[in-house]
Amino acid sequence: MAITHNLGFPRIGKNRELKFALESFWRQHTTSEDLQNTAQQLRKTHWQLQQQLDWLPVGDFSLYDHVLDTSALVGNLPNRVSQDQDELTQYFQVARGQTHSHCQQTAAGEMTKWFDTNYHYIVPEFDANTTFSLHADKLIAQVEEAKALGHNIKPVLLGPVTYLWLGKSKDSSNKLDHLDNLLATYERLLISLEQAGVEWLQIDEPILVTELDASWQHALKQAYLALNKSSIKLLLTSYFGELKENLHFACELPVAGLHIDAINGFEEISRVIDWLPSHKVLSLGVINGRNIWINDLNKTLDWLTPIQQRLQDRLWLAPSCSLLHVPVDLDSEQNLDHDISSWLAFAVQKLDELNILATALNQGKDAVAEELIINEFAIKSRQQSNRVHNPLVKTRVGGINDSFALRNSSYPQRAAIQQQRFNLPLYPTTTIGSFPQTDEIRQARKQYRLGKLDEGQYQQFIKQEISHAIEQQESIGLDVLVHGEAERNDMVEYFGEQLDGYAFSQFGWVQSYGSRCVKPPIIFGDISRPQAMTVEWATYAQSLSDKPVKGMLTGPVTILNWSFVRDDQPRSETCLQLALAIRDEVLDLEQAGINIIQIDEAALREGLPLRQSQWQQYLDWAIKSFKITANGVKDQTQIHTHMCYSEFNDIIQAIADMDADVITIETSRSDMELLDVFNEFNYPNEIGPGVYDIHSPNIPSVDEIVDLITKAAQRIPAERLWINPDCGLKTRRWQEVKPALAAMVSASEVLRSKREAA
Ligand code: GLN
Ligand code: ZN
Repeated sequence: MAITHNLGFPRIGKNRELKFALESFWRQHTTSEDLQNTAQQLRKTHWQLQQQLDWLPVGDFSLYDHVLDTSALVGNLPNRVSQDQDELTQYFQVARGQTHSHCQQTAAGEMTKWFDTNYHYIVPEFDANTTFSLHADKLIAQVEEAKALGHNIKPVLLGPVTYLWLGKSKDSSNKLDHLDNLLATYERLLISLEQAGVEWLQIDEPILVTELDASWQHALKQAYLALNKSSIKLLLTSYFGELKENLHFACELPVAGLHIDAINGFEEISRVIDWLPSHKVLSLGVINGRNIWINDLNKTLDWLTPIQQRLQDRLWLAPSCSLLHVPVDLDSEQNLDHDISSWLAFAVQKLDELNILATALNQGKDAVAEELIINEFAIKSRQQSNRVHNPLVKTRVGGINDSFALRNSSYPQRAAIQQQRFNLPLYPTTTIGSFPQTDEIRQARKQYRLGKLDEGQYQQFIKQEISHAIEQQESIGLDVLVHGEAERNDMVEYFGEQLDGYAFSQFGWVQSYGSRCVKPPIIFGDISRPQAMTVEWATYAQSLSDKPVKGMLTGPVTILNWSFVRDDQPRSETCLQLALAIRDEVLDLEQAGINIIQIDEAALREGLPLRQSQWQQYLDWAIKSFKITANGVKDQTQIHTHMCYSEFNDIIQAIADMDADVITIETSRSDMELLDVFNEFNYPNEIGPGVYDIHSPNIPSVDEIVDLITKAAQRIPAERLWINPDCGLKTRRWQEVKPALAAMVSASEVLRSKREAA
């Protein structure tokens, strides 16, 4: 009998109930009891939705983040939280710096990305004095809660070694020095779970798919030798990739079962089967937990059947990873047309697929004949649909040659031509693109969507906003202007909506962090651009000023990384299609008299594979895609790009290869030290290091900016420096933005006169 289970279910709720409950609690509109009731109700609903499975997950639910839950479980919340407050207050202090909006702020825990996903976790903190203590009440209570509802459950825990690996040492102490103590706490936890009647425990060690040095491998061995003393059966769980060089080692760790990601690690399944000792359970993650496409069930059964014959009761089936990364229920969608929705599976549908697979294996295909026919039909319709396949797009991609990615002349020649054309002063000032998204703007976009504003009225409104933005920038005295992006709610969705090959869900929310959700658009088909997307706004803005106005686009790699993408062709192929579509827009802008064009690649870094050995391959096609987008222009057209982070040390060569005339980056908080890498590398083109931290309401002073740019000029020749904020200004208010930008302009004047005096 193949056994079915799930690694984790989305917590946010089909209608984002958790988000709203959290936010209303934080605003003190509701009590902690209300919040806990909503949480309990959600767990109940989610278990009901999973009840056909043999084992249901418990402990995967979280009020904010499961890594923070683990910190609370092992008594490792930072000392700065108020010790005299209740647990929930402490928890939110670490999660977000405060519990209620009026409360005093403490420093929130740092947040970072969970492996290569768009989910963010709260980074555990360690120092030489870190101690652990067990706080298992909540987890045990949830075990009891599920049992009382009659469910057969398997608790989910983040493994001790991955927990350490994800954390940060606040002094320079070695995180692994804490392993012994942490293991002692886990051992006590296992005893409590044993007493609560737990038979199987899922213990997640996703670091097994990363490159581990000997000390981390050793830590894993030590951990599972210690935890193996318990009578609880451990299902050691890896996901998000292949085990590769960790394969033998993972197979041999002393646990009762191993889960592997059979989507990303398909090629290694048979090696795992060969190496796995014959008393161990093998759980195969056969349904993709990271995307929203239906599984080809017949195909999966074809390869699973012989495995099942070989493993028999030792075979378990599950999604590849927690379903945290997909929306809850496709049945909520009303606006997707039938074709497209028949190709999609959200969390609930993925569990249905799992049950169909298990039933077919256990009882024969006949038992699910109808389901298999429906699935086969949908798979065929997707394979053959002319909405998916556009021969013209494929031909165009096939026709890409090296010249597409190359500018006519090298940067020094272009720079001279551009200097003559734009005649910009030393330290030119500019912004990253967006201006404050006021309530009025949001309101107008909404009215337009609802049909309450007609096309003409809406156009009029956006034009007013553009002209307001231009007036402000002129009066502040910036050198290179922007139109302000009032028409965009989101830098990916705005383009997705105008491209063919994209679909949009209404309720396809995925948790990004805490109460924050995103609704990634879905690339289902070959991408093409039926008509220009930004030219009208850009040319209107340019018509209002004699100064250059930048055209503002999102780059292909960022569009790709922030969408659900096709699984029927390589990501690189989809990226090339996007590159051609945005290239057309670049050329239309140039043709329409826009002389400076910015192509944002905010998410370029996010796409880096988990294993560094695979980085180059990604960077090769990602950078090529950017260059195809950017490099069809004439020498006198200036290309800018922007990235919202500052860690360039390990990808500086790729950044230089992009060959943008100007790159703007986030640097204000780092005191310009992050420019060291550009300096050491002798980065050849122009750079705008951010001098205004847009994540904070603080307004930088002229002196601060002068100081920052002076530091920057110690690293980058002044002739190649720009002055700009860290990122777009859409989350700020005009009353902050105006003085901040004015300070930038004054600082540039101070710096220029200093330079002349010198
Ligand atoms: N041009 C965009 C803006 O200013 C860039 C946003 C981003 O980098 N995240 O809003
Ligand atoms: Zn940015």
